[in-house]
Amino acid sequence: MDWNNWLLDHEVAIRLGFFFSVFAAIAAWEIRSPRRVLTVSKAQRWFNNIGLVFLNTVLLRLLFPAAAVGVAAVASANGWGLLNIQPLPLPVAVVIAVVVLDFVIYLQHVMVHAIPALWRLHRVHHADLDYDVTTGARFHPLEIILSMLIKFATILVLGPPVVAVILFEVILNATAMFNHGNIRLPTNVDRVLRWFLVTPDMHRVHHSVEDDEANSNFGFSLPWWDRLFGTYRDQPRGGHEGMTIGIHHYRDAAQVDRLPGMLRLPFVGKISSYAINRRQWSKGDAE
Ligand SMILES: [Zn+2]
Ligand SMILES: [Zn+2]
Repeated sequence: MDWNNWLLDHEVAIRLGFFFSVFAAIAAWEIRSPRRVLTVSKAQRWFNNIGLVFLNTVLLRLLFPAAAVGVAAVASANGWGLLNIQPLPLPVAVVIAVVVLDFVIYLQHVMVHAIPALWRLHRVHHADLDYDVTTGARFHPLEIILSMLIKFATILVLGPPVVAVILFEVILNATAMFNHGNIRLPTNVDRVLRWFLVTPDMHRVHHSVEDDEANSNFGFSLPWWDRLFGTYRDQPRGGHEGMTIGIHHYRDAAQVDRLPGMLRLPFVGKISSYAINRRQWSKGDAE
């Protein structure tokens, strides 16, 4: 219990420490040897993408000051949730909780692609014309709020140890920056690593304009769900350098790579052929 208190007291320092170290490492790597040539200048992309991250951070602090760890602390203090019914050794409970939380994120990701209104929100993540460390954190504020509520509900049902929630969030944050990196891993390293972790080449397929490719590789940290549930795709048809990143028909940088355009994006256009019940089952463009 004391350990939990120590973690809660130092939580912000732990998170920021990991965030800045991983961000700096990936950013340096992609500036030194980028995988793809960017279409929009890095300065403009970073200014707007990081602006959105900043806005989301402030919004979450205001709306949910206790955050996910607070919900986990209340659940464990009250004995709520499946993992609190029968006490397990802490390491076992932590591993179960991290894996289950990652699975829920996978399911949520499939859901926001399939449901028309939620795809509107999630388009903000996909509309980025390029793919780099800042893409990993660009989500519309409404999608961030939805994710947080789903996480709260999961925590209340699951009852994970507080340390598991912090660990899960730190891992997800780090892996999202890593696998959105505009970086290249040696082919054999990528092949071995993607049995345990979603690699940049694996997740890049998911940012293709092609709708069958974008409907693949939904995992953020663990690659197993895509392989288990049939959504895994090895490589993009056009190759990593030749493939087009983004969404068909949303190719104007002023709209998709500037903050005001990104915030408005869910409310423009029609979802005509991408989401699950709008699909043209013969052949059609995705948007
Ligand atoms: Zn997606
Ligand atoms: Zn992504």
